[in-house]
Amino acid sequence: MKKTIALRIDVDTFRGTGRGVSALCEILAKYRVQGTFYFSVGPDNMGRHLWRLLKPAFLWKMLRTNAAGLYGPEIVLMGTAWPGPRIGKHHAEVIRQAISAGNEAGFHAWDHHYAQAHLMTMTCDAMRKELSRGVEELTRILGKAPASSAAPGWRANEQLLKIKQEFPFLYNTDCRGRAPFYPVIDEKKLEQLQIPVTLPTYDEVLGRDGVTDSNYNDYQLSLLKEDELNVLTIHAEAEGGRCAPMFDAYLKAATEKGYRIVTLGSVAEELSETAPEGKMVLAPFPGREGVLAVQA
Ligand SMILES: [Zn+2]
Repeated sequence: MKKTIALRIDVDTFRGTGRGVSALCEILAKYRVQGTFYFSVGPDNMGRHLWRLLKPAFLWKMLRTNAAGLYGPEIVLMGTAWPGPRIGKHHAEVIRQAISAGNEAGFHAWDHHYAQAHLMTMTCDAMRKELSRGVEELTRILGKAPASSAAPGWRANEQLLKIKQEFPFLYNTDCRGRAPFYPVIDEKKLEQLQIPVTLPTYDEVLGRDGVTDSNYNDYQLSLLKEDELNVLTIHAEAEGGRCAPMFDAYLKAATEKGYRIVTLGSVAEELSETAPEGKMVLAPFPGREGVLAVQA
């Protein structure tokens, strides 16, 4: 796939859905391009997530990326003393509008915070239940089942990939890597194509190796490969918020360089016949805590 950027848009929070999604839709429409939104539809307990992670490495990342500026002050309290608000219940219309504008919808999480922290250690039944609740809610909102899913924080193991086969996903984007592949588990090839994210995210690189807001776009553009598929993840909370002007400039520059911006669904359609088999492993990843799913 020459000069192609597949755009994955993660939506993790109540605020990101309420404010970031429509802001991103406007920017995408300006350049007449579409992306794949991955929605979290259950309770927003990200505040609990932030408190739980109050340790030096995380604090440093908060300072490095100005998390309060990115996520807004209320996120720090959300879900700490009371159950977080249900995203799908309040923002169904926002989700539907993004899709009627030609974008694609995928499933990200029921409870993003909970899934990111616990999904990989759950029993099969608990994992299945966590996915079912979210997929059912998103299906209710969309009026049809989502065509794909994306594991929160790229925390995905083989058990999760196997359970996903029970859902009507055509493809998934659960790992970081180089090119789409069909995961093989216990010598069996899975039917759902895996589309790895090939580029780093904003919060992974900002403040590292001299990357600042003023040279971030140049850095991202320098990582693009002309002859291979590029898969970029942005966040409704970041690129749909404080970083919106920067993302607008990125799309302008990328399209001027001749790159086409597409949904992950169109990649799956193009590569479903030809993608090779591959392996997914758990490994540490630059700019992230713990281990995450990586193409072997
Ligand atoms: Zn996420």
